[in-house]
Amino acid sequence: MKAVKFGGTSMSTADSILRVASIIKQDHDRRFVVVSAPGKAKGCDKVTDMLIAVSEARPCDRLVKFELVRNRFAALCDGVGLNGALDEELDKIQSNIVKADYCYILSRGEYLCAKLLAKLIGFTFIDAADLIKFNGNTYDDERTAEVCRAGLKGKLDVVVPGFYGSDEDCNIVTFSRGGSDVSGAIVARAVNADIYENFTDVDGFMTCDPRIVPHASVIDVLTYRELRELSYMGANVLHPESIFPVQKANIPIHILNTFNENALGTKIVPTEAFLAGKHSRKNNMPITAIAGRQHFFSLHIDKSMMNAEIGFVRRVLSCFERYDISVEHIPSGIDSMTVVFSAVDTETCNALIEAVRREVNPDHISLTKDIALIAIVGHAMKSRPGTAARAINRLSHANINLRMLDMGASEINLIVGVSDSDFERALVALNGEFEV
Ligand code: ASP
Repeated sequence: MKAVKFGGTSMSTADSILRVASIIKQDHDRRFVVVSAPGKAKGCDKVTDMLIAVSEARPCDRLVKFELVRNRFAALCDGVGLNGALDEELDKIQSNIVKADYCYILSRGEYLCAKLLAKLIGFTFIDAADLIKFNGNTYDDERTAEVCRAGLKGKLDVVVPGFYGSDEDCNIVTFSRGGSDVSGAIVARAVNADIYENFTDVDGFMTCDPRIVPHASVIDVLTYRELRELSYMGANVLHPESIFPVQKANIPIHILNTFNENALGTKIVPTEAFLAGKHSRKNNMPITAIAGRQHFFSLHIDKSMMNAEIGFVRRVLSCFERYDISVEHIPSGIDSMTVVFSAVDTETCNALIEAVRREVNPDHISLTKDIALIAIVGHAMKSRPGTAARAINRLSHANINLRMLDMGASEINLIVGVSDSDFERALVALNGEFEV
């Protein structure tokens, strides 16, 4: 049995909604469906963005802005042959809208979309507020696992709105943007699905950013860990947190394209062990994919005998903690360490440097502002000597200065740092070397 999630583009027009309905009906295993709010369509914004505009308007202007959302859903109902099907729901929301809070307003896109799809395909609508639980603003995984399992027990052919749940006082709370992916994973775990199918508008996860490397190809299989590394480095097909619920239940994710039935998509499997048998990979490369991000800073600290000074690294890192700066990498030498972190504003950066000076009294401290990090990711690296050497060689042949190199003991991820200005050339060069 499958849990299936359809993203905003899949739900954006009457035609695409009809296509979604037919995809669901094609496979009787697709019995639990989660939907996003309608995405961008000709002349229309994403419904969630329209709802943000409603919430940000002065109370007296909210009704006018909500009218646009109302018209969008009314047109979708007409387009799928369900004229007026959401009128009652829309009236109810409209009467609440002036006093409603931010999360309630934002969540109504998914709510209405799920109501519409449930009516269209004859499935039961179950509200996410009754299945997904938050503790204040923080997602409560333990309670959700229990409540969601009980709420869906014995049920089949269900549509659940994505993106939100509720807190202990029954107030609506939303995930961060793109959070319907997480809702889909939660439902998949609750019903112990064989697979979580995530329908989107691309053919799958790409080996490299196709805007920079046009001949990048779709990856057939990835592991959760590879996916985490790649998503973190900017490969954004899935919400980065959507792995956790399914990971706990060992449920594979299958990324599929609503608009291209011939695309095989990307399977994301729990562990390396899954990479055998029916989930085996087509190619035999040491690298699964390459992804990168620009605009990192790196703080370079020199101090003689640093390695003998117990607590040195902790004291440096406490300064980052004080300024709420998340640290990415810490390559170090005997008398020097470098801390790589995402760009912050000048004032924070100056305060940070001052704090580090006071804390550890370095011989020399300097900041570099134009670092791009590229992650070369793949489980198969472990068993192949020479992968790092090949990467470094390629960069040197392309005359790209390597500014940082970092590889964890897990050997799944080799990070190279180059100048922002070399970023695109480096991606092309590395992709050429590994032909991923
Ligand atoms: N509709 C929400 C957004 O646009 C959540 C989602 O689509 O997953 O971010």
